Amino acid sequence: MKQDIKQLVTSTCANYINGKCILLDKECPLTSGEEYRGKKIAASDCSCTYFEKAVLPANKTLEAVYYGKETVLNKTCKGCGKGFNSVSNRAVYCSDICRKSARKKTFIKANQKRAK
Ligand SMILES: [Zn+2]
Repeated sequence: MKQDIKQLVTSTCANYINGKCILLDKECPLTSGEEYRGKKIAASDCSCTYFEKAVLPANKTLEAVYYGKETVLNKTCKGCGKGFNSVSNRAVYCSDICRKSARKKTFIKANQKRAK
């Protein structure tokens, strides 16, 4: 879905010319991400005021995606098995509750092994 936003930028944004944003005079942050104080920011976390005002309103579906209204469940919780959405690659639990109860379980397991 984020890919579609990139497509919308490259095909529709008036400031996107030859792979560059002429407003920012660099690669469009929405297609290739950007760097802020030495840290890499993913394209999906970047925003563009021009894009939001001039390009997005014409495409309601992508507008919802852009603002995160449409939740794409890209993860499955290791604790409860429910789908959840996270931007972090390392997240394996949907919530703190699952994280804590999972930790408790491993603790009990470790104790049982010791008892044998
Ligand atoms: Zn869970």
